[in-house]
Amino acid sequence: MAKNRKDDHCAFCGRGNDEVELMLHGEDVCICSDCVTAANAQIQSILHPPIEKAIKTNGHIEGDLQLKKPSEIYDFLSQYVIGQDKAKKVLSVAVYNHYKRINNNAEELLEKSNILLVGPTGTGKTLLAKTIAKMLNVPFAIVDATILTEAGYVGEDVESILTRLLQDADYDVSKAEKGIVFIDEIDKIARKSDNPSITRDVSGEGVQQALLKIIEGSIVNVPPQGGRKHPEQKMIAVNTENILFICGGAFEGIERNIAQRLNTQVVGFEAQKNRTHIEKDNLIQYISPQDLRSYGLIPEIIGRLPVLTYLNPLDRDTLRAILVEPKNSLVKQYTELFRMDGKKLTLKPEVLDYIVDTSIEYKLGARGLRAICETIMLDKMYEAPTDSRKTITITLDYAKQKVMANAQLLNQVD
Ligand code: ADP
Repeated sequence: MAKNRKDDHCAFCGRGNDEVELMLHGEDVCICSDCVTAANAQIQSILHPPIEKAIKTNGHIEGDLQLKKPSEIYDFLSQYVIGQDKAKKVLSVAVYNHYKRINNNAEELLEKSNILLVGPTGTGKTLLAKTIAKMLNVPFAIVDATILTEAGYVGEDVESILTRLLQDADYDVSKAEKGIVFIDEIDKIARKSDNPSITRDVSGEGVQQALLKIIEGSIVNVPPQGGRKHPEQKMIAVNTENILFICGGAFEGIERNIAQRLNTQVVGFEAQKNRTHIEKDNLIQYISPQDLRSYGLIPEIIGRLPVLTYLNPLDRDTLRAILVEPKNSLVKQYTELFRMDGKKLTLKPEVLDYIVDTSIEYKLGARGLRAICETIMLDKMYEAPTDSRKTITITLDYAKQKVMANAQLLNQVD
């Protein structure tokens, strides 16, 4: 560093040595400590704009939400979600109506179209909700209904659902009030017994009652940090009137309730005619609010979830399509990872079939596809940056060898 001279001046503010706290010297130039501090603040505000500024420049949050037509919503969903046409269609209309209601201030006239998705685990319920939130660019929170308990018991208060939404909205309340909440495993808070008065059911009917208030639309006091409410805590008031709630659950065994209802219904004059229409292998498509009631959801909750639809189990062809077709499919992701290392990845078609078959064999569904791909690709990804070859081809033999060597890992996939 050059020597401190009496006649040095800061190149930015022009002040002399004796007018500033500290002068820093470069080759032929000086800068004072005040200008360094000011420059640093400017750099930070450009690289990391404050939240309010980010919200404005984002353009999506203030004012009306960009209302997409149902067919546009459906097309967007189809880029990420394979099959499940019925659910995608029902969801597209429900979301369109929901935001139409908000944008036209028709909250009094039009009922909120909260949604209930019923279908086996790993068939795309969370993915659908997540994709809708991504499309609309609204805050989104996923909560597991099993962690919720009635106030006063071990577990989380239902208000903590909204804490997560607030967090996703960077605590911008008006933004959170137009968000989407996905409540997973809603079936797990079904009433445990037909006679609720015998034992306390703190994680069942009690939670359903507590959820009602939030889902139907009201002003809820939310603890900003979640967890349990306590008297000294400062609360944030959130109006849930325009928050879209999407609930999901596997409702294992509900086919029995559906079958029972259908059996009683088809007795009678129209019996023969109706019976021919019933596909016994896929009873879930006939689900109705009555079945949810006999499964253990209270009528008030069912009433607050007026849009009911189902997801189909994933068959072999759908799993195969999930591997390659979505915009961010696993095959596209691995291809991109290798491209970044300057390599062309080729997965033989029989390898893709093998991945699907393995996932079916281990009963892993769509969730298993990634675990199996990782098992096959790990060594190749490890070697790629130092491998001089320009193409990486995964053969069936290679894939089998990797899966067999790691079979115990697949048994642990959740
Ligand atoms: P669920 O909520 O029904 O239990 P998820 O939506 O979490 O299931 O699905 C798990 C993963 O499986 C998703 O992240 C996605 O990668 C994949 N998946 C499941 N169903 C589909 C589908 N229909 N289309 C595309 N991917 C799917």
